[in-house]
Amino acid sequence: MTKQERIQRMTDIMVSFIGYTAVHLPDDIISKLGELKAAEDDPAALSIYDMMFENMRLASELGRPSCQDTGFVQYRIECGSRFPLINELEEILRSAVIKATADTPLRPNVVETFDEVNTGSNTGTGAPSVSWKIIPDHDGCEIYTYLAGGGCSLPGHATVLMPGEGYEGVVRFVLDRLAEYGQNACPPLLVGVGIANSVDTAAQLSKEALFRSVYSQNPNPKAAEMERLLEDGINAMGIGPQGMGGKASVLGVNIQNAARHTATLGVGFSTGCWTHRRGHIVFDRDINYVTDTHSGFTCNK
Ligand code: SF4
Repeated sequence: MTKQERIQRMTDIMVSFIGYTAVHLPDDIISKLGELKAAEDDPAALSIYDMMFENMRLASELGRPSCQDTGFVQYRIECGSRFPLINELEEILRSAVIKATADTPLRPNVVETFDEVNTGSNTGTGAPSVSWKIIPDHDGCEIYTYLAGGGCSLPGHATVLMPGEGYEGVVRFVLDRLAEYGQNACPPLLVGVGIANSVDTAAQLSKEALFRSVYSQNPNPKAAEMERLLEDGINAMGIGPQGMGGKASVLGVNIQNAARHTATLGVGFSTGCWTHRRGHIVFDRDINYVTDTHSGFTCNK
């Protein structure tokens, strides 16, 4: 394959993958929603779950996005330093958004600040957003995609607590944010919490936490325990699916943590809604791909 053919193939796959993730929720989210529905006995909550599954069925049958807000496309890349298309990658991902916007179609959501003009393509200055991690001495590339909705994931919060506030302060911060706007973010939510050094690192980690499966756990046993306790505490708030009340308010709570300054305790908070449209696709150097989030995905181009 020539370089140009590789660029075209990767672009085609990404167009197809973004469109697929707009229509089909990830396997773990569908499975978790089924579990929450099976455990529910509140009639109003059950009718909301029924509507969610009907929504998923129709989206799949008609090939239409699962929500009218198809989001702002965010990418997180873990790219090998020897991946053959490393220099072209950002342009491939940008082109894929433009084509997926026309093909799927996705709602044009991107407005240039100050100009206040919708670009019509879901691209613009800093759009799509791309965060990079270079993997030394590796020739593959992992791409996390996220169609971040304006009511759920994009309005996150972050702050730096005094260290004396401790982990109790982290819990208070998370529960206060959920009480403020959790019911408006289309629950049950996947809650991402970043605990780190500063506002920027905590916010970034809270977003990365949303890329983990709802069935995953933080490898640190104390952090994993905090994930369980927060999940129980948020569910006890009784927000329920679409804020109508019910047993479960969250799909899960994922914490990502990093070392911090002795004088700071940074906390970031991000949420994903029930249509948590994240994807994960992995390319090898020959642009063969696998995905562990969407078992039904095949690129037919
Ligand atoms: S919160 Fe999610 S489901 Fe609700 S409108 Fe926004 S993108 Fe759609």
